Amino acid sequence: MEEKAGRRVVLVPVPAQGHINPMMQLGIALHLKGFSITVALTELNHLTSPWEDFPDFQFVTIMGGLSESEFKKLGPVEFLIKLNDMCESSFKDCLGQLLQQKQGNDIACVIYDEYMHFAEAAAKDFNFPSVIFSTTNATAFVCRFLLGRFKENWFLALLKGTSGFSVSDLHKSLNSCRAVSMVLFFIEPGEQDKLVPEFHPLRYKDLPTSAFAPLESSLKLYTNVVNKGTASAVIINTASCLESSSLSRLEQDLQAPVYPIGPLHKAASASCSLLEEDRSCIEWLNKQKPSSVIYISLGSLALMEHKEVVEMAWGLANSNQPFLWVIRPGSIPGSEWTESLPEEFGRIVSERGHIVKWAPQKEVLSHSAVGCFWSHCGWNSTLESIGEGVPLICRPFSGDQRVNARYLDRIWRVGIQLEGELERGDVEKALRRLMADEEGVVMKKRALCLKEGVEASVRHGGSSHNSLNEFVDFIKGL
Ligand code: UDP
Repeated sequence: MEEKAGRRVVLVPVPAQGHINPMMQLGIALHLKGFSITVALTELNHLTSPWEDFPDFQFVTIMGGLSESEFKKLGPVEFLIKLNDMCESSFKDCLGQLLQQKQGNDIACVIYDEYMHFAEAAAKDFNFPSVIFSTTNATAFVCRFLLGRFKENWFLALLKGTSGFSVSDLHKSLNSCRAVSMVLFFIEPGEQDKLVPEFHPLRYKDLPTSAFAPLESSLKLYTNVVNKGTASAVIINTASCLESSSLSRLEQDLQAPVYPIGPLHKAASASCSLLEEDRSCIEWLNKQKPSSVIYISLGSLALMEHKEVVEMAWGLANSNQPFLWVIRPGSIPGSEWTESLPEEFGRIVSERGHIVKWAPQKEVLSHSAVGCFWSHCGWNSTLESIGEGVPLICRPFSGDQRVNARYLDRIWRVGIQLEGELERGDVEKALRRLMADEEGVVMKKRALCLKEGVEASVRHGGSSHNSLNEFVDFIKGL
């Protein structure tokens, strides 16, 4: 433990698995540095099992948040917009109550998820310093910065084809080629495959727009996300060896210090699964040959169309490789669980497959039997796969997943992105490239190099390790 034990940090996570995991890892990392930790949860995160594993943390509830059924009804983007509208005053109540207790006397700062910007306004009211925690990567953040600038009415009108603006008007008002290209992307279908200037290797279609909401809503959310307000700094769950130029660019865009301290799961392990993990898959993996298994999981929110699931299933079957498939109940619209899978596929599963509702993913990825990861490329899954040197089949669904998939395929070259309509023949071919061909062997070597790089960054003297120490010094000085 280091000096100043007892100074308190208040953490405000988004109530979703992919955001809670890194926030709790951050909590542990800061606790190890001597800080006391308070976690402010919205009512959506029932105070049940995972929190019992954090006996040293204090948990408080931000009352009046939205329920699970509202989350399902609104979808993640609209939900976050509403949550931010509703939670500011109840979070102020939380901070007020903390101040009345002993624990509130020494609050060093409030660290909030980039999507919980109401926390910044509340912290400001109490004169507490605030810090943004980005649970996605720097490149996606920079892209959101770009997208967030376009919420003005004229831009939305242009999208809908109802404005009198022309591209030369835009040149005048924006004076930026990049911005004009952005607009073209939305008005000319063919533009979507083109590279975004200065954003190599991202194409317009890789920009992190949401599959869950209309563009206007995503832009509204992004505008708030990139507006740091009075936040003093940004910490981000990435490593400089993964995206150093995006990190510099982010620092420039935000005009604030940016601390890349990830991958946090390599620095601080935290077990906080909101769903019950089915450990039968570990026993099943124990019986498989080394590097033989295809692990498939699309995270906690992505959905799969019935038609796509069928093509995936036959592609997997025809690849002749063993597979472990996480199918979240409700992730195939119209199905409770696996009933929409082809009946004959059941025989293949019993021969060489295993299907579960939720897996202990980090343990699965570190298992020697796993040879590749078919992923939606959420940032946590991406980091967890990189952290174990497991190459990926990338099939992004929404938002920053597209950015991550493109980087996995084109920059880090440890993944194969499957694009367009999914077809069983393409699935089988991609799996063979990765699992049986020389290309897969080379990719595995690169994946192991990347793993070494990120592991080195969190070790003593590594870039993320140093960055965390610098951040600790920074908040001690606030
Ligand atoms: N996860 C898990 N078990 C599963 C599937 C996912 O524990 O069966 C975890 C995974 O390890 C990761 C998180 O859920 O930490 C998903 O986060 P990610 O950013 O990859 O995707 P999201 O769910 O936010 O789309």
